[in-house]
Amino acid sequence: MKLFDPHVHMTSRTTDDYAAMAAAGIAAVIEPAFWLGQPRTHVGSFEDYFLSLVGWERFRARQFGIRHFCTLAINPKEANDPALVEGVLELLPRYLEKDGVVGVGEIGYDDMTAAEEGAFERQVVMAAKHDLIVLVHTPHRDKRRGTERSLDLIRNLDFPVERVLIDHNNEETLPMVLDSGCWAGHSIYPNTKMDEARMVTLVQRYGVERIIINSAADWGVSDPLKVPKTASAMRVAGIPEHDIETIVWENPICFFSTGGRLDRSDLESAAAVDQRELWQGNSVLRGQEPRVGR
Ligand SMILES: [Zn+2]
Repeated sequence: MKLFDPHVHMTSRTTDDYAAMAAAGIAAVIEPAFWLGQPRTHVGSFEDYFLSLVGWERFRARQFGIRHFCTLAINPKEANDPALVEGVLELLPRYLEKDGVVGVGEIGYDDMTAAEEGAFERQVVMAAKHDLIVLVHTPHRDKRRGTERSLDLIRNLDFPVERVLIDHNNEETLPMVLDSGCWAGHSIYPNTKMDEARMVTLVQRYGVERIIINSAADWGVSDPLKVPKTASAMRVAGIPEHDIETIVWENPICFFSTGGRLDRSDLESAAAVDQRELWQGNSVLRGQEPRVGR
């Protein structure tokens, strides 16, 4: 079974992670633009980051047989810096048209400030203009309120709900997200928030429609193999193979191909690996024997 991890920050991960993910069946990833652990102080840092997401990182994934797509945005945390917001929103339209960009994200609320709301709103409008989906991050503190406010904002802007993925759901927020018509993402973390067993229970209770899971792995304590691990937990719990496949493959393809930037037939064919390839003269290898083939 092919798997899709539709929220993983590969820039923060190693080639060992890529190799392990490919071996576990992960054939495609979405890398949302996010914050880097400390605030950036120049708009140019965002531009270089966007360039790496559509360039080097995409190449690096392909070197391990994984298709890489991204969503671009100014994230909620850094949306609190007015100078950055203006500069990043000015350059974003150009980058939203690049190959491999399938949406706007992650956007949303962190501390639920007016500045975050302004950037959130403007980026949803931008997604509509570029015919893209949006990936909405929900806050870790006061998640219920943050989710309600996110759904209100989407409704007030009349943005189509079938183009919205509300992420990092839990037992408390999932029912309202499903009722809204938006897609519901779940980030499976080690020892906190949502885990494999709780995810199994949610699937048994709510079914598979519009349900998506991801690892949200980044530079923090996280695990890029959480999608395959959760698929295994579902299998052990007796969830039918067809339902597991819907969650880990069909649903992300269906959602992220909405804007026509992700081609299902390309994803379904095996990715050819040729580690002799270079990206702007650079290789992922350090003198090792290149792997060539499937
Ligand atoms: Zn994230």
